Amino acid sequence: PALVDPLPIRRLQESVINRIAAGEIIHRPVSALKELIENSLDAGSTAIRITIKDGGLKLLQIQDNGCGIRKDDLPILAERFTTSKLSTFSDLSHLTTYGFRGEALASISYVSNLTVITKTKGDSCAWKACYQDGSLISTKAGTSAEPKACAGNDGTTITAENLFYNTPTRLSALRSSSEEYARILDVVTKYAVHNPKVSFTCKKWVRQAASPTPDISTPSSSTTQQTIRLLYGQTIAKDILHVGISSSDNASSHDEGEDDDSESWSAESYFTNANFQAKKMVFLLFINHRLVESSRIKKAIEAVYNGILPKGASPFVYLSLLIDPRSVDVNVHPTKKEVHFLNEDAIIERISDVIQETLIGQSQSRTLLTGG
Ligand code: ADP
Ligand code: MG
Repeated sequence: PALVDPLPIRRLQESVINRIAAGEIIHRPVSALKELIENSLDAGSTAIRITIKDGGLKLLQIQDNGCGIRKDDLPILAERFTTSKLSTFSDLSHLTTYGFRGEALASISYVSNLTVITKTKGDSCAWKACYQDGSLISTKAGTSAEPKACAGNDGTTITAENLFYNTPTRLSALRSSSEEYARILDVVTKYAVHNPKVSFTCKKWVRQAASPTPDISTPSSSTTQQTIRLLYGQTIAKDILHVGISSSDNASSHDEGEDDDSESWSAESYFTNANFQAKKMVFLLFINHRLVESSRIKKAIEAVYNGILPKGASPFVYLSLLIDPRSVDVNVHPTKKEVHFLNEDAIIERISDVIQETLIGQSQSRTLLTGG
């Protein structure tokens, strides 16, 4: 005889399902912030201001000067799978924006108190909307949930408060707000380097209407090199090398004659020379403008430097790779930070080779200089 009687199987509540799904996309404050930064960049912003309280757990606010959101779109903004960025399945493979199937704002609304204030150029005032579990909500009893007119600049301010208030286990796993803040600064720094034309600031919230010195502040219309100097310091910037690599550079090496777009790619990299030695590798990897991780690329570049730097020393490397969106699965699921793509081995080998040649060429000319 069975030791326990079977319990009836029941459907989970819709809101519980959505909260679980949201937890898979939003792991910690920085994962929410990353989605919000990408939305602001998609909206064409040139200035992005971030304010953080308690490592983002109490408050995560991002203000941009992008295109804004149309008032009519506000009611469905935080529903799952609502997006202005794709409408047919085939669009998924051609997507060049950072967007992910319209899940970011929905997810954030399931695990925090979400407020959006937005104004398009054509609007005469801004609109404020509050969300919970994917829907507009009223924040005062007896008032409607409809967006309310308010003062505001062109662009969008998104505020997520009390992140994970309804998922206590997640909340208790994130004990240190200073660690969360460090992760936030790291991600903002990397996006700032990748978007030198966009001004980024990131600061801690201290009190209402206070304006503390930001921990990160970059000007607009800067260059990559200047931004690296500003954020990572002069010691890195003075020992930096720069290469651009493109698949067509060695097109002559394969003579099939067929011009297949999925084979074409390009990369740009800034990396320190043999004079620079860090304890831990600083590695910034963007694939199609999204901050991602690839342990295979990282290992390959580390191997190049192993032959150049003394044991225990590591480089700074920023690599931006553009590949045909059809050949990368970076857009398949937002939680997949670790990416894979077609012709990965060949692309990694070529990039490593160019970095190696540049490093060796550089150290030879240095030897010549000192020798002569
Ligand atoms: P996705 O980015 O995949 O479309 P999101 O949930 O991140 O999904 O955003 C939903 C939609 O909300 C976007 O497609 C965009 O139209 C709009 N949106 C979100 N953030 C902004 C922003 N900062 N500025 C302008 N529009 C935005
Ligand atoms: Mg998005």
